[in-house]
Amino acid sequence: MSDQGEDVITTAHGAGSGKMRELLGDLVLPRFADGEERATVGLDALDDGAVLPLPESGAMVVTTDSHVVDPPVFPGGDIGRLAVAGTVNDLAVMGATEDLWLTSSLVVEEGTPLSLVEQVLDSMQTACEEAGCRIVTGDTKVMGSGEIDTLAINTTGVARVRSDEFVTDAGMQVGDRVICTGTVGDHGISLLSEREGFDFEGELSSDVTPINGLVATAMAAGPVTAMKDPTRGGFSAAIVEMAEKADVGVELDESTLPVTPSVASAGEILGIEPVDVANEGKAILSVRPGAAEVVLDAIQDHADGRDAAIVGTVTEDHPGRVVLDTGFGRRYMTAPEGTPLPRIC
Ligand code: MG
Repeated sequence: MSDQGEDVITTAHGAGSGKMRELLGDLVLPRFADGEERATVGLDALDDGAVLPLPESGAMVVTTDSHVVDPPVFPGGDIGRLAVAGTVNDLAVMGATEDLWLTSSLVVEEGTPLSLVEQVLDSMQTACEEAGCRIVTGDTKVMGSGEIDTLAINTTGVARVRSDEFVTDAGMQVGDRVICTGTVGDHGISLLSEREGFDFEGELSSDVTPINGLVATAMAAGPVTAMKDPTRGGFSAAIVEMAEKADVGVELDESTLPVTPSVASAGEILGIEPVDVANEGKAILSVRPGAAEVVLDAIQDHADGRDAAIVGTVTEDHPGRVVLDTGFGRRYMTAPEGTPLPRIC
């Protein structure tokens, strides 16, 4: 609340949980919800991207993200790598893994060293090469000193898919096995450690990576019914959203969830659960039970998926809820509310 008692935007509105849902539900969806010219997957779905029908055949997947991470250079990456990986990965988890085209819009603060801009552009170029994608149009704006903090990058991605090829985050089916493609919490925990000035002997590093190649490998190995990248809000927010949207239960075995020892101990010191913070190079896949082992093997054979694991099962029981078996008992997993973590991606 401001001095006048007027409602204002708070950091909680950007935290990807309750307040953001209110903002979307109260202000955005009533204005822009899908009309008669329906998208195949539109704004109402609140998925990682939209799927639009094309006149002849196939469909177009489109997604957009603004990246405002602080600090702009962090262990394991920088805002440029993040801006490319974030958008490539949102396309990938919609099933669009090749022929990806990106736009890039930079907003830079006056006084930002040119060397930083060059470093960020180098990282974007490298990430594009890794993903096999191209930046084909863009925009650059400069704001005055103090009017923006260093730089923000918006990237939009488009890709064409066959109409039977796209995957949403709402398709989990009872009996599916849930695969997490690697360790959780690396990006969020390493970024927060950096901000707090803990170095943990340099063992922490963001996982920021374009994973379209990994996702293509998984989809070629067996039927994937639902996918999501666990970015802001972490693994817990993503898996709860998937269970809610499909109206199914998910039972997770905590002992199978991959977490590096350094992330686990840094998380304890920071008082933050690794499952509640952003990943920038991981995906959660729901896979038909007969294919789960084959898909897991294919993912583990990929350089970005060595730590992948089957972490749970989709059930008829407790629809819309995720039950975590901790080894000591069972409890519901919930999306993080509480302390928002601004500027993590
Ligand atoms: Mg996403």
